[in-house]
Amino acid sequence: MRQQQTLSKSGFLSGIGLHSGKPTSIAVHPAPQNTGIIFVKQEANKIVACPATIQYLGQTDHCTTLQAADFQIQTVEHILAAMAGLEIDNAYIEIQGNEIPAADGSAAPFVELLEGCGLTAQEELGSYIKIVQPIHVQDEQRSIAVLPSALPRISYTIDFPHPLIQRQDYEHSCTPAEFTRNISAARTFAFRQEIEFLWSRGLGLGGSLNNTVVFSESDLVNEEELRFTNECVRHKVLDLIGDLSLLGFPVIGHFEAKRAGHFLHTKLVQAILDNPDKWILLNGGEANKSRILERTASSLAPTHLPELQPAFLAV
Ligand SMILES: [Zn+2]
Repeated sequence: MRQQQTLSKSGFLSGIGLHSGKPTSIAVHPAPQNTGIIFVKQEANKIVACPATIQYLGQTDHCTTLQAADFQIQTVEHILAAMAGLEIDNAYIEIQGNEIPAADGSAAPFVELLEGCGLTAQEELGSYIKIVQPIHVQDEQRSIAVLPSALPRISYTIDFPHPLIQRQDYEHSCTPAEFTRNISAARTFAFRQEIEFLWSRGLGLGGSLNNTVVFSESDLVNEEELRFTNECVRHKVLDLIGDLSLLGFPVIGHFEAKRAGHFLHTKLVQAILDNPDKWILLNGGEANKSRILERTASSLAPTHLPELQPAFLAV
């Protein structure tokens, strides 16, 4: 049982987009209870919105993209992981540009931003999706499942034929303290031989050693050492937490991921919504459960949008 939380005040962060390479900035704002997390953007004289839910999922090629009628937002997973990791239920994320800033490639700068805003408890209790029967998704050697469990947990395994990675396993118990201490600082990683391929497809254009751990064939290209010996698998846990937040509510279940990525993470989110007999909604009631399942992109249009101060946009 936990009261919903929002931010105590607004905060601001700017940088460049990891994939677009373009300058971008965000402001985070408090939101009323039962709002969820909603991306908003001021365009000409109107505010356009895109709720951070699976109904708005765009492509998942090397990052998670949300797509609403009026705009697209790339690389949402790290800030969404920070929101979910800190148990923030309601917030607006205002964006200038089309991609969340890459920051240092991890969620730590977003945690710092959100903690700097402070958290405020709201009146109503937060709802949880409690898994009562297993749900699996598989793609050849890659898989992800969620099993019933008394507490939220993630077990993640990766296996890359690289001397500094190889097989890594990580067990995460989903609490804000564990997230902040053990997961939030793990950075995005890439292999040098795949970077030119990414560039040729217009991705990774803002990538640098300041926001990506880059591996050569047998070594690390960055001068800065790894933040954790198993930083890669911790980053996969971070990505999963961000992708799972697209359910709109935290999940009480045990996630087991093997060599998965954004594509499978979001497939599992969809599979959870497609199998409503395998979970119950705690603190939400059956009426709310039907609402989650019925809601379509059009019915999710937010009813209350923040009063954005034009001054902010000039910062
Ligand atoms: Zn990531």
